Amino acid sequence: MLIVMKSDATDSQVEAVLRVIEQLGFRGHPMPGATRTAIGVTGNQGAVDPSHFENLAGVAEAIRVSKPYKLITLDLRPEKTVVRVGGDATIGGDELAIIAGPCAIESRAQAFAVAEAVRRSGARFFRGGAYKPRTSPYAFQGLGEEGLRILADVRDAYGLKIVTEALDEAGVDLVEKYGDMIQIGARNMQNFSLLRRAGKARLPVLLKRGLSATLDEWLLAAEYVMAEGNYQIVLCERGIRTFTDHTRNTMDLAVIPAVRRISHLPVIVDPSHGTGKNFMVTPLARAGVAVGADGLIIEVHDQPEHALSDGAQALTLDQYEELVREVRSIHEVITPAAVG
Ligand code: PEP
Ligand code: MN
Repeated sequence: MLIVMKSDATDSQVEAVLRVIEQLGFRGHPMPGATRTAIGVTGNQGAVDPSHFENLAGVAEAIRVSKPYKLITLDLRPEKTVVRVGGDATIGGDELAIIAGPCAIESRAQAFAVAEAVRRSGARFFRGGAYKPRTSPYAFQGLGEEGLRILADVRDAYGLKIVTEALDEAGVDLVEKYGDMIQIGARNMQNFSLLRRAGKARLPVLLKRGLSATLDEWLLAAEYVMAEGNYQIVLCERGIRTFTDHTRNTMDLAVIPAVRRISHLPVIVDPSHGTGKNFMVTPLARAGVAVGADGLIIEVHDQPEHALSDGAQALTLDQYEELVREVRSIHEVITPAAVG
């Protein structure tokens, strides 16, 4: 059920509708918009009778939702969500969001060398894994909490917002302690207990698309997070597995306009994991911006040849700086109106 309030509905009328939703044993999710507030209702097993709401003061319409998602949808919120990270940085607004850094935090020296270049480029966000989801249990798994401490020091030194992955629910506690944004990785996109925990977190969530997830499965994963009350989610296309073997993954650029047509959530692209190859990262970053992504997440290393993970796709500091220059000029000509 979706309850659309009249444009002149008062806060107390919205509160009264929320109380009725609660009395019925459901949860109300108010979404204030530019012209009106809508309230999504979750927690109901079957259909909810619209007559519970239709005659309440301030209610314009109570609409049954036939789609599988209730909260990520433009029906609830016609304007794009602008996600706030670390107080003063945003994703989904007018500025192109650039999240850059190494795949994994390997040492303080490495993290600071990369962060220096990221800061210089004007990017607002620093990435780096302290807990790495590696295919082999014998591969470098990340520095753990020590990695998070280094990330927190990077924030203090450079003012960059920290985006880092939580592999499990305990990891969310730690990212809440040290970071600014919780990354949920492709392999965990349907880890429903992790999604629910992220939904209760006080930090925004970067939700990567699963390796073989359809658009609906991905959006429903975001719906899990939102249903718990965390509405600050950024989607990330990071390539899906296909039959081709000239890339690590196939970056599905068509998913950007497909998301836009359904959801108010910002969506960014990851041409690093999306291609797996250094020489493809910049061309696909350009394409991602041209197709209307709200931002990029890019792996950068001061010494890619010595990287402990994902060295083949890491950009050098110089390559990264050039990429930022190029995508900024593309973004300038792609106005939000043209992207629509
Ligand atoms: C990463 O960002 O380093 C990562 C592991 O990404 P993904 O979950 O998309 O593979
Ligand atoms: Mn990586």
